[in-house]
Amino acid sequence: MKDDFFATKTPLGFAFAGGALDRLSAKRDDAAFVAELRARPEARFLLIARDMPLLTREPREVLFTLAEAERLGPSVDEILLGVREGGSPLFAARLPDAAVEMREDHSDGFLDKRVLVIPGREDLELADMRMIAATGMVDPPSVALLGAAKAMCHWHARHQFCANCGAPTRFAAAGFRRECDACKAQHFPRTDPVVIMLAVDGERCLLGRQPRFPKSMYSALAGFVEPGETIEEAVRREIHEEAGIVVDEVAYVASQPWPFPASLMIGCLARAKTRDIFMDHEELEDARWFTRDEAHAMFEKRHPEGLMAPVRMAIANHLLRVWLGR
Ligand SMILES: [Zn+2]
Repeated sequence: MKDDFFATKTPLGFAFAGGALDRLSAKRDDAAFVAELRARPEARFLLIARDMPLLTREPREVLFTLAEAERLGPSVDEILLGVREGGSPLFAARLPDAAVEMREDHSDGFLDKRVLVIPGREDLELADMRMIAATGMVDPPSVALLGAAKAMCHWHARHQFCANCGAPTRFAAAGFRRECDACKAQHFPRTDPVVIMLAVDGERCLLGRQPRFPKSMYSALAGFVEPGETIEEAVRREIHEEAGIVVDEVAYVASQPWPFPASLMIGCLARAKTRDIFMDHEELEDARWFTRDEAHAMFEKRHPEGLMAPVRMAIANHLLRVWLGR
């Protein structure tokens, strides 16, 4: 029997996927087991300070030993991410805010351009997660693991108090739960679903640009899934709200963890039933239909207006490739 239904494999080639981790979720409450993993000589730590990954400068490394991590002072939270291929335990450690100094902040809403330093440690640098992923300064599996570490540390930093009663929460389950001793509420790390989709009408696809995008870049439309909504409904609503286009069929293509701060991008293609664009100027600076030839030209950096395809690290780039058959 043919298994065509399962023919779609999760493709790599975009960032934050493919961390290849055994997450050991059934063992997280076994404190002795977690302590034993932590003490193993092959255990490694990804270090995050104020939402930024820490790297060594030369050579570029993101994995630290326990001794190297402890040299930076006690971490606030240590999360067991799992065991990597080959068997070495992997933790994410959140350094206290006081461990780093902010020298400058040129953040532009797209890139995190804070200049953070660890005083006295010129051999280390803190780098923006988007830049790490886009430049290839770190190998792709490590980018995926760093993304997970960043999302987890972001969650812990902002869930120190119970959303139910306001009392302090306590770290539990090796970092995959926080507990409130006052009201007994349990809190779990969030992942926020976002639909990202390409509306297509046969020979053309719909792309838009937000004002914060890099100059000349057009990308797929996207938006958060709302409570009570299916993925298909969210795709139809977002395309209609942002561009006034009515779509009917929706096909899932692939997904991508997106640690800004903790989303899961759900990539879809959607069949357009209408052509006239009525743009939401609050969300978009421009939206237009692109022919296949134009889309190819954007990939090959020869579009007559200098327009660019979405960056390679993003799933929007992959959606466009799937539609073009590239
Ligand atoms: Zn509580």
